[in-house]
Amino acid sequence: MGRYTGPVCRLCRQQGGKLMLRNEQCLGAKCTADKRQGPPGVHSRRRKPSELGVQLREKQTARYTYGLMEKQFRNYFEEASRRPGRTGDTLLQLLERRLDNAVFRLGYADTRSQARQLVRHGHITINGHRANVPSQLVKSGDVLSWRGGSTKLEPYKSAAKDIQSKTVPAWLSLNLQDMSGRVLRLPERGDLETTINDRAIVEFYSR
Ligand code: ZN
Repeated sequence: MGRYTGPVCRLCRQQGGKLMLRNEQCLGAKCTADKRQGPPGVHSRRRKPSELGVQLREKQTARYTYGLMEKQFRNYFEEASRRPGRTGDTLLQLLERRLDNAVFRLGYADTRSQARQLVRHGHITINGHRANVPSQLVKSGDVLSWRGGSTKLEPYKSAAKDIQSKTVPAWLSLNLQDMSGRVLRLPERGDLETTINDRAIVEFYSR
């Protein structure tokens, strides 16, 4: 059991858009998103997708974006529907609050999957304590830094080199002096870098 490890841009074509699971790959000619219309293996005339088809595609796009297995993704939906407020808003917020996502959004890594590796390998601390669980949810006021020993290593050096050209979303702030990031507030819908159709996702799971 694990995440999808096949050619990532096959998913781009399936979903009909660039998912940016590997930044460089989607930006180059390798990305299959716009090579041919329709999902892989389907070469016939394009039919208007059914409502369920649209809901499924939107759900898969969000799931692949955050690199989650179906069961994990569904758990986020169920957690969101138990909490007060609009389920779709809560779902987006829970996904965005994942530690691996926050590490990616701070610019410590180029993709969410690289960010997850940084976390798993123990390079990241929250409020000074090593945090190696990618699904941990960050809270307002949390400080996300690099473990002392990690600053001599390659992932840190390459992050430090590129980080100035990246933009940090409004719910986070980054201190370039010591490469530490702070969670200023919980993320909201407007903070997401991609448009996720949360209503279609909620409808998909509410069938
Ligand atoms: Zn792609």
